[in-house]
Amino acid sequence: MNEAADRLAGVEAAIAGAASRAQRRAGDVTLIAVSKTHDADAIRPLIAAGQRHFGENRVQEAAAKWPALQRETPGIALHLIGQLQSNKAEEAALLFDAIHSVDRSSLVQALGKACARAGRQPLLFVQVNIGDEEQKGGCAVADLPGLLAEATEAGLKIEGLMAIPPAELEPAPYFALLDELAERHGLPLRSMGMSGDYETAVMLGATHVRVGTALFGSRE
Ligand SMILES: *Cc1c(COP(=O)(O)O)cnc(C)c1O
Repeated sequence: MNEAADRLAGVEAAIAGAASRAQRRAGDVTLIAVSKTHDADAIRPLIAAGQRHFGENRVQEAAAKWPALQRETPGIALHLIGQLQSNKAEEAALLFDAIHSVDRSSLVQALGKACARAGRQPLLFVQVNIGDEEQKGGCAVADLPGLLAEATEAGLKIEGLMAIPPAELEPAPYFALLDELAERHGLPLRSMGMSGDYETAVMLGATHVRVGTALFGSRE
C-alpha cells in the first residue's frame, strides 16, 4: 500500500475503534480529509484510496483546486470548514456540499438569499465558539438559539453544530457540551475532532471529524 492509503486505513481503524468503544457504528461517522494548502498531486492518492469527503477552509483555494478533481472522480463531497465572507455566500452555495462555519446573522441572511438563487442548499452547520474565546470564530453559546431561529426564518435548514475547542485545554468537556447543545436543539449532526483528538470526539458523539495532518502530513 502507498503512504496515503496507509494513513487513511490507520485513521479509519482508529475511528472504528473509538466508535466501537462508545457502542456507536463507525458508519455513522463521516471522515473529512482536510486538504487545505495541499495541491492536487497530494490529494489524488487519497481519492485513489477511496476517500470521498474533503474539507477546505477557503472558497478561493477550493474553487481553484476542486472542479478539475471532481471531473476526474465523480461523487466527491466538498466541505467548507473555514470562515465564510457574506459576499462569497453564493459561490460557496454552488461549490460546497456542506458548510460548517455558519456563525453570524449577516451570513445567515446572505446564505438564505444565496441558496435561493443557487437553487440548492448545502448541508449546514452552525459553528459555536464553544470555549467562549475572545479571538475565536463561531457564534457565542448564548447567541445560538437566536441564530438558529433566524436561520429558520431565512429558509435555511441547519443540520448540526461545529466547534473547535480551546487549543490548550482538554477537549472532551467541550465535545460533550457541543453534543448536548445539538441534542437540546434537535440537531442530528456534530462536526468535531481534528488530528489530535478525533477519537475522543467520536466517543462523544461526533458525526463528522475533520482530519488534515494525520492524513496528509504536516502543512507548510
Ligand atoms: C485545519 C483544520 C482542521 C484539520 O486540522 P489537523 O490538525 O491538521 O487535523 C480541522 N478543522 C478546521 C476548522 C481546520 O481549519
